[in-house]
Amino acid sequence: ETITIQDLANRMAERAVDVIKLLMKQGQIHKITDTIDADTAQLVAEELGHTVRRVAEADVLEGLFDEPDLEEHLEPRPPVVTIMGHVDHGKTSLLDAIRKTDVVAGEAGGITQHIGAYQITTPSGAKITFIDTPGHAAFTAMRARGAKITDIVVLVVAADDGVMPQTVEAISHAKAAGVPMVVAINKMDKPDANPQRVRTELLQHNIQVESMGGDTLEFEVSALTGQGLDTLLEGLLLQAEVLDLKADPLRNAEGTVIEAKLDRGRGPVATVLVQRGLLEPGDIIVAGAEWGRVRALISDTGEMIEEAGPSYPAQVLGFNGTPDAGDRFAVVESEARAREITEYRARVKRERAAARASVNRGSLADMMRDLREGSGRKEFPLVIKGDVGGSVEAIVTALEKIGNEEVAARILHAGVGAITESDVTLAQASGAVIIGFNVRAHKEAREAAERAGIEIRYYNIIYNLVDDVRDAMSGLLAPTL
Ligand code: GDP
Repeated sequence: ETITIQDLANRMAERAVDVIKLLMKQGQIHKITDTIDADTAQLVAEELGHTVRRVAEADVLEGLFDEPDLEEHLEPRPPVVTIMGHVDHGKTSLLDAIRKTDVVAGEAGGITQHIGAYQITTPSGAKITFIDTPGHAAFTAMRARGAKITDIVVLVVAADDGVMPQTVEAISHAKAAGVPMVVAINKMDKPDANPQRVRTELLQHNIQVESMGGDTLEFEVSALTGQGLDTLLEGLLLQAEVLDLKADPLRNAEGTVIEAKLDRGRGPVATVLVQRGLLEPGDIIVAGAEWGRVRALISDTGEMIEEAGPSYPAQVLGFNGTPDAGDRFAVVESEARAREITEYRARVKRERAAARASVNRGSLADMMRDLREGSGRKEFPLVIKGDVGGSVEAIVTALEKIGNEEVAARILHAGVGAITESDVTLAQASGAVIIGFNVRAHKEAREAAERAGIEIRYYNIIYNLVDDVRDAMSGLLAPTL
């Protein structure tokens, strides 16, 4: 009985690098793909504060997604596409422009809703699903949770600006995920558009487009005028054909939570992407540590629908709590089973939180000692509130990356919803800055912050937020008199 380090880490929701470090302390050198035996795995798990229940645990965590599809049930499914690229190169504009090409929604005059993903029907009658939280931060946060939802990445590069730092990052992220890429050279309507420069610059990053003799499809488009969009969509379908995307539409539904929020009137509302099977009202659904009975399914145009099949994004009403973006979901056979799974997961979550809290207390003490000694790594404490789980997670992931040996962001709390008085209290206790992403502060919170001299900053672009924090952190490094 063995398990790979990656699998063990995933199952504990720990980072593989922490498992490797722990083993190293015990004199064992491993890489992430190595397998270790059950006894060692148990030791590691207990060392990291997890309760081990070998057989039952495997049942609960794996049984859900293990059942293979029947070959004879497989049917083609639409591709799921994520748009990535540098800020201001037109990701949002392109998503909007593509959505307007939808022949079906156009007819129905449906009111489009922002639910985190949408599906269009192209003029040729084919369907394509787009994840409409653009950017690689969200993409990577999902992937970090083990969710693989994107079949194709559209890399947007503005023809008047060329390859920029986030373009390069996006390329790395897509490559790391092993997701094929299609290039959209945007803003072709601009007089200073220079697509040839884009192609040459891409070549420097090992992306060889078709017209340069490579095999990466490239399209010259304008989100503003709509130029080239039809060709881009056909290109995506062509790429999808090569990928031979299939799923069993008959089995119990499985997929991933794209985003979720608590709606005042409707309760928890989760946007899910169905990846196989058919989701229907009445189904008992489990996602992360939450479950519910599907009360209604709502499409991206706000209509009630009777079913959602593979690659279809739908809002689910009926969850008992709000799941997290990136959580896998599955339909189970009974409420009892749903309870068993979610109670188990909730316990694991609690244990993890408790373990983390004690670690935090430790590191806080360390920090005080370091400060006294005037040495060690400085920490930049933050409280983060955002409108949806997906963006909060993306922000946390991005902020965790910008530290170095001297200074690092320390996220005291990250959550969904308006900034409350309790956030201010928390920030006050640690001298933290509060960051609101697409949310505001309650009046009482604003007043409390003013009294306490706590800074609240608002953002609606993740990139700007991260940039500011980076600047502030380098301020911490500046010599003090
Ligand atoms: P994002 O940050 O990548 O999501 O970029 P946006 O979609 O917000 O676009 C940034 C700016 O570029 C906006 O002012 C858009 O109006 C503009 N823009 C986007 N696409 C085009 C295009 O095809 N042509 C022109 N001329 N402007 C564009």
